[in-house]
Amino acid sequence: MDNMIQNPENPPINCEVQKSKIKLGSHVGMSGKEMFAGSVKEALSYGANTFMIYTGAPQNTRRKELEELNIEAGWKLMKENMIEEFIVHAPYIINPANAANPDIFELAVNFLRLELTRTAAMGSHTLVLHPGSHVGEGREKGIEKIAQCINTVLEDESVCRLPDGTFCNIALETMAGKGSEIGFTLEDLTDIYGKVIKSQFLRVCMDTCHMHDAGYSIATDFESVLLKFDKLLGLSQIAAIHINDSKNPCGARKDRHANIGEGYIGYDALHQIVHHPALLSVPKILETPYRPLPQNPKKSTAPYKEEIAWLLK
Ligand code: FE
Ligand code: FE
Ligand code: ZN
Repeated sequence: MDNMIQNPENPPINCEVQKSKIKLGSHVGMSGKEMFAGSVKEALSYGANTFMIYTGAPQNTRRKELEELNIEAGWKLMKENMIEEFIVHAPYIINPANAANPDIFELAVNFLRLELTRTAAMGSHTLVLHPGSHVGEGREKGIEKIAQCINTVLEDESVCRLPDGTFCNIALETMAGKGSEIGFTLEDLTDIYGKVIKSQFLRVCMDTCHMHDAGYSIATDFESVLLKFDKLLGLSQIAAIHINDSKNPCGARKDRHANIGEGYIGYDALHQIVHHPALLSVPKILETPYRPLPQNPKKSTAPYKEEIAWLLK
């Protein structure tokens, strides 16, 4: 900036303001005494202006009471630091696509309902959900089950209502296509939309690693991916983007996240997505792996502060 000629009539574009429009953060923890306020502090320590949390351990259904989450203190911190929104990720154990086992399906219905209530009560508009795996019963049956699960949960819309009267949506995540995963093609997601009665409560969470692994040209031609998305679902349906590099080549259907610039997608493509003018207001969340500490490789440290700063360049 130093050698730029400043013209007060026509000031140069303020880079900081431009950047602040981008919502970039990472997934953060929620534990200890501080709970949600601790999540906000962690996000701030990375220089993030948005973040993603799990409302409890992603692998189980044990959940603390809402009163123990310290929600108000967290929101106070968010407002003081101009963080406008955060998103919530549902636990992996929810498999609404399971057509084989009615117990697992019922667990998915009950837990999705509970998670929506919690997400809304915490003041978030987006609950990210993996569509699930059909576990051998086939794509059609799986999609049927996912829609049935969501339709059951949304019968009573009040489960999605935030304290301010607005609503929380379910954002179906684009998957990598490992095993019998549903949702690794945009057609899968389109078909789920078609079977959900109150599809106004549906959104999509794009995951760059997953889409690349599923065979989409995230690394080489993101524009064509967006075009296809717009045609099938509409760009307005993108409620969140997970920004991850991938340890595997396009189409590998593996789902192993790499740090930014260290995988097959690469820094340039991810930078382009983060700064894409059509996606500016969409919260973008890093889920890249922790790095081993050079002094003590048994311990690891979050890469998010460095990766956020690098991606905002
Ligand atoms: Fe996910
Ligand atoms: Fe993801
Ligand atoms: Zn993943």
